[in-house]
Amino acid sequence: MSVGPFDALIDHFTGKQARLPCIWKENCSIQFISVDAKGTVAQCDCWVTSYPEYFFGNIFHDADLTRMLKTSRARRDFVERPKRLVEDEDCLSCRYLSICHGGCPVRTYSALGTMMAKDPYCEVYKAVFACAEAHAGAILRFRAAPIVALRRRHQPVLRE
Ligand code: SF4
Ligand code: SF4
Repeated sequence: MSVGPFDALIDHFTGKQARLPCIWKENCSIQFISVDAKGTVAQCDCWVTSYPEYFFGNIFHDADLTRMLKTSRARRDFVERPKRLVEDEDCLSCRYLSICHGGCPVRTYSALGTMMAKDPYCEVYKAVFACAEAHAGAILRFRAAPIVALRRRHQPVLRE
């Protein structure tokens, strides 16, 4: 049985390759976009269905998608968000910055009216990360236990 995203967090904290959800990716704007049936281009389904002020453009009006993404004023906010969070929020001193990156832009925008702030679920994330980290530590100690026991058993021999 797999319970996402907790399994992915355990993978991350045990040093495995982790399939983390987009909210904890380095920057979702460099990974994918969403295009609806009318050709509207936006960051993801949340933006394309709810926030016209953050549409990047329309592929039926501008067939050059690369140029659209490069010149979109709306998309620039997504690209610049991680830098702004490090400058303006306390994310830089957070031990979980390398996994969280300030969280989800759309959650932030829908709650605060701006995406240039850390995710309002910050404290929840910290608690979830801490819990996953503690479990991952227990798993690693359990896995290492036979090796530690073996080392202890052979220590006197090695000292001779
Ligand atoms: S805005 Fe949030 S939900 Fe949408 S792609 Fe980015 S991280 Fe994912
Ligand atoms: S957990 Fe909170 S402080 Fe830490 S990186 Fe995420 S949003 Fe920033």
